[in-house]
Amino acid sequence: MQITQPPEISDLFAESEHEEIALGEDRGCGYGGLIAIHNTALGPAVGGTRFWNYASDESATVDVLRLARGMSYKNALAGLPFGGGKAVIIGDSRTSDRARIFQAHGKFVESLGGRFITAEDIGTTPADMELVNRETRHVAGLPAKSGNPSPKTAFGVFRALQACAQHRWQTDSLEGRTVALQGCGSTGYFLAQLLHEAGAKLVVCDVDEERVARVVEEFAAVPVATEKIFEIAADIFAPCALGGVINDETIAKLRVEIVTGSANNQLLAEKHGEALIEKGILYAPDYVANSGGIINGCRELLGWDEAVTRDKISGIYDRMLALLALSEREGVPPFRAADQLARELISAAGEARFGEKPSSVML
Ligand code: NAD
Repeated sequence: MQITQPPEISDLFAESEHEEIALGEDRGCGYGGLIAIHNTALGPAVGGTRFWNYASDESATVDVLRLARGMSYKNALAGLPFGGGKAVIIGDSRTSDRARIFQAHGKFVESLGGRFITAEDIGTTPADMELVNRETRHVAGLPAKSGNPSPKTAFGVFRALQACAQHRWQTDSLEGRTVALQGCGSTGYFLAQLLHEAGAKLVVCDVDEERVARVVEEFAAVPVATEKIFEIAADIFAPCALGGVINDETIAKLRVEIVTGSANNQLLAEKHGEALIEKGILYAPDYVANSGGIINGCRELLGWDEAVTRDKISGIYDRMLALLALSEREGVPPFRAADQLARELISAAGEARFGEKPSSVML
């Protein structure tokens, strides 16, 4: 195992104010990975390991830097005592040589001495994290520990929706509201359940017909074709499938007042956040709404029990309300206010670390 800093990406690294990026290699088993640590002012950097067949080393580097910064912001606004980082393993995640790859990855994580703690992400599983755990204790998301994050993520999204309703309609009741829900998978299913229990009416779609049928049967949802979900006249659109679904084409069709769901990176580009505002639609920043999963994963690191964890996830309601109020006060869109607030929280923590008083920025 050799750990080096790749010189060719140093310019990119400097631009995005990351603390560290490292390259790990184990030529014996064909392992190649990158770990980016964006910021550790709030605590050790926490972020998943993505296993992806990147087209080039440069695209892997850009991805890991971007994702690490995203984790800093997400963790800060989730009120977690952790900074942000991310790991990528470059290659085909369908490999059968998982033991050697993930043990090599575990050694790489261990070499950072606890400044980075990892967990599962796209292309990796809790079983892979057990292999990582053979080489390092700096890993979360292990089987039989924090458990399936999806119901927790869905609960957080539900709380975010209640906060949006309170902000928009001065009541956090969702009774009688119509929700167009895209994606009836791991998070979409549990969100549908919570919305049904709260008395909301559901219009749902998924490319997987069995998943739609289950939600229709269990939660009295109305099914629609996937391409129709954007044009449903509803109170809320909840994207719980793919990223980039808020774009020029879909914004023109949307007939809702609120957009909040579990999907990561819902806006195709920042201009689409502005376009939603122009159309009078309230968009709750996705990484605040869907932070229930990371809060749940961190319970392993913080020793929280189930009740404390639920309480912390429930706090997404207050954090989202505070964020929406800040956005209104400052006259900036909520997705920009979120980034700004995250930067302020991180900077306040950094100053506190050096003996100065933290600013009054608190959620
Ligand atoms: P999932 O794969 O279990 O569910 C996604 C569902 O979307 C699937 O049922 C899939 O068939 C469906 N789908 C795919 N393309 C579609 C389309 N064009 N139209 C309608 N449905 C479509 O994934 P998940 O875990 O529920 O995650 C959903 C989103 O939430 C992802 O963006 C994920 O990154 C994000 N997220 C998930 C968690 C979590 O705890 N699982 C946490 C944070 C963020």
